[in-house]
Amino acid sequence: MRQKAFRTIHVDDHNSHVNRPGRGPLQEYRSKRDFSRTPEPAGETRPAGGFSYCIQKHAATRLHYDFRLELDGVLLSWAVPKGPSFDPRDKRLAMRVEDHPVEYGGFEGVIPEGEYGAGAVVLWDRGTWTPLVDPALALKKGELKFQLQGEKLAGKWALVKIKGDDPKAWLLVKDKDEHARPAADLEVDPADILPNQSHRQDLKPHEKEKYGEEREKPFDRRSPRQAANG
Ligand code: MN
Repeated sequence: MRQKAFRTIHVDDHNSHVNRPGRGPLQEYRSKRDFSRTPEPAGETRPAGGFSYCIQKHAATRLHYDFRLELDGVLLSWAVPKGPSFDPRDKRLAMRVEDHPVEYGGFEGVIPEGEYGAGAVVLWDRGTWTPLVDPALALKKGELKFQLQGEKLAGKWALVKIKGDDPKAWLLVKDKDEHARPAADLEVDPADILPNQSHRQDLKPHEKEKYGEEREKPFDRRSPRQAANG
């Protein structure tokens, strides 16, 4: 889906310093990493127009889920400690972090000890997203509503900036629709990951422990009632 009517913006106000003339939107991303040591991609800013989406489960010092939306050639990124929930009442803290290269959405691997974000990164969900509002304006206002078409997550979601001292603090919230469901009925399983991560064999035991053992069961997107009926 093309979004030609939308103005171009790479970052919102709190980290606009990364977008000064002569410095690309990936400057902050690159300055934090030594690409001779980390397997992460240095990446390039892509042409605008793509709307990929992914979540990476990241067993760093604290386990979290990196939620990424492609906009204007980079991945806007939020670190969500508890991961997403299908329950609209269950608002999940999402800390805005530096924009990542679009290429990062295909990255899985282990960031070595001593490097920024050391720990295992596993692709947890992927697909596309559709902004339901002008995303540039929405990022400025602090309320971005969108639709997800992922392998696990679907339906309407919102990222809402928390009014307060920390300009990086947002909430990831499921909007009410047919994909919403109470947490008490069925939670998004944080241990449920996409199959086919061969690098998992290279993990040290404590790293395996951090991101949990592999579960190959497919994510059940149906309502509990549908699921109960097989
Ligand atoms: Mn991370």
